[in-house]
Amino acid sequence: MGIIRTLPQSLISRIAAGECIERPASVVKELVENALDAGAGRIEITLRDGGRELIAVSDDGGGMDPDDLVPAVTQHATSKIREDADLFNIQSMGFRGEALASIASVARVRLVSRRPGADVAHELTVEAGELGAVRPCTAPPGTTVEVRDLFYAVPARRKFLRTNQTEVGHVTEQLARIALAHPEVEFLLRSQDRVTHRLAATGDRRQRIADFYGEELARVLLPVRRDGDGVVVEGLVAPPQESRGSGKWEYVFLNGRYIRDRFVSHAVKEAYRSLIDPHRYPVVFLFLTVRPTDVDVNVHPTKIEVRWRDSNYVHGQVLAALREKFLGTRLEHRLQGASLGDDERERVRQAMVDFFTHPPRTSYEGRPRVGAMAPPQHAPDVGAPSPQATQDQPGAGPADNSAAVAPGAQEARNWPAAPARPPTARPMPSAALDMPTAAARALQVHRSYLVVETDDGVMIIDQHALHERILYEELRQRIAERRLETQRLLLPEIVRVPPDRLEALESHAELLAQVGIELTAAGPQSVALQSFPTLLLERVDQSRFVLDLLDLLAEQGRRATGELLLHRVLDMMACKAAVKAGDPLTPDEIAALLARREHAERSSHCPHGRPTTLRLSLRDLERQFHRR
Ligand code: ADP
Ligand code: MG
Repeated sequence: MGIIRTLPQSLISRIAAGECIERPASVVKELVENALDAGAGRIEITLRDGGRELIAVSDDGGGMDPDDLVPAVTQHATSKIREDADLFNIQSMGFRGEALASIASVARVRLVSRRPGADVAHELTVEAGELGAVRPCTAPPGTTVEVRDLFYAVPARRKFLRTNQTEVGHVTEQLARIALAHPEVEFLLRSQDRVTHRLAATGDRRQRIADFYGEELARVLLPVRRDGDGVVVEGLVAPPQESRGSGKWEYVFLNGRYIRDRFVSHAVKEAYRSLIDPHRYPVVFLFLTVRPTDVDVNVHPTKIEVRWRDSNYVHGQVLAALREKFLGTRLEHRLQGASLGDDERERVRQAMVDFFTHPPRTSYEGRPRVGAMAPPQHAPDVGAPSPQATQDQPGAGPADNSAAVAPGAQEARNWPAAPARPPTARPMPSAALDMPTAAARALQVHRSYLVVETDDGVMIIDQHALHERILYEELRQRIAERRLETQRLLLPEIVRVPPDRLEALESHAELLAQVGIELTAAGPQSVALQSFPTLLLERVDQSRFVLDLLDLLAEQGRRATGELLLHRVLDMMACKAAVKAGDPLTPDEIAALLARREHAERSSHCPHGRPTTLRLSLRDLERQFHRR
């Protein structure tokens, strides 16, 4: 006897749900898309317990007839397409006719709908696939779908759900992906009875972007537009200096739907090539309008991927749209001129000079944020004093600094303290004093390289690469020995982050603690920076750092784990905190850098594997000059 059976309907729906309903955010996506298809001008989303207890979506759209309530929750029933040919001419967000059925197979669903002309509304409840009766009730025109106890019927999935914060974060990101493409619709998102997003209808995409990602970013975006044969590319794209550490900042919409597409991505990458660091990603919001007959959207269960009729043409249009803009905008000029005024640039330059030349205390007093630091959390190192403090301020011991500056903070702006050495007869010398000859015989050229005389020739050092390696080793060692010093900020720094980044706080909590960074959720799309490694405190822009770190964790966190991920994070920390090419160095700093070079493990290469040092022996020189 045959063993193959047709599956019961409830099981078919549940299998379909497995494809498109992963978490509360997926439910929100499906319900909001239905509301848009119904012509809604206002859509309200309510979450309770991160969507676990309740997800409700209400709209003021066209509603459903009572007769349509049962088909609405039936598998493969839709009002949006009728025949084969329609599949290649999709004008709506939905068409598969399985979202409501899928959701109803894994949760308790209540559907309430009223057509604008009707006197009453009707409701239908579905529980574990069991349909109740269609009953009249009172409700305003439009549709409300309530989804309760998501995955109650599928405990395995329910277990995968994360904390409320994280789930709300995913919902918010999902909302962004829909709302950015539909600025003409008003949205409201409520979580635990608190409104987290109120997005007024607007004709302006830039406004929507500002609503989600802040004015600061929205303001600098450059508009692009290109009309082609059946393809219109419109967008708002960031100038190259606004790059990010993750590809998620590439928002591409096709006919109002968020998609991921390798042809478009490639074109974007190509357009920004050589304008941004190859390891960074641009920020773009691209809105493509393509004839529905020129694209197949029936490729992926959540429709996030598409198949183009002519992918090369689409690629070319996107590339051309961006390229035209970049050629037409003097980016370099903007880079220096637009973001910083002349005065400000001079101030920054002066601050940099101060940073390198003045004793710690003077420069700290000018920085209000640093004054707001609480004492460090761990006892400071008992290593050698930092070379600068000893040299520049003969009378100023740690006690002098303690009022305004925590003792450990001093290190942040100086070189890391020299490593502890075995006790010797003479008192511990500072690194600079230890290397008088090297310092005297070193010269900074082009504010980027150090040329140093050695016993048998010269070496040329890339100051950034070497400092990066030194900081990397320092961080690594301190972490291994559990003596990484952190500073608690009295006023936590609030950083606005993309909502789906909150997940990193949970999934990488251990790593963050390890590297001395304490971040707490501070709302649906912001985090509060509570502590920061002292070593980096004054060397990096903390908000930027947090953004890039969360990007890195989200991008690499899935592939890299443990040691490798830690390596990447330390790498990033070292790179950001190291002196840059173009930074002037004082003789003391050169001396300290050279002294540290001796001790840093593998100092001949930076953490990326590039060399830090080139050597030319006297022999090489003689050969070059044909002396022998
Ligand atoms: P699809 O959107 O692919 O058609 P769904 O399962 O999401 O499939 O919805 C089934 C049908 O229910 C839709 O085709 C539509 O007719 C109706 N429907 C769902 N949500 C709404 C809504 N908010 N307003 C009006 N009709 C709706
Ligand atoms: Mg749908």
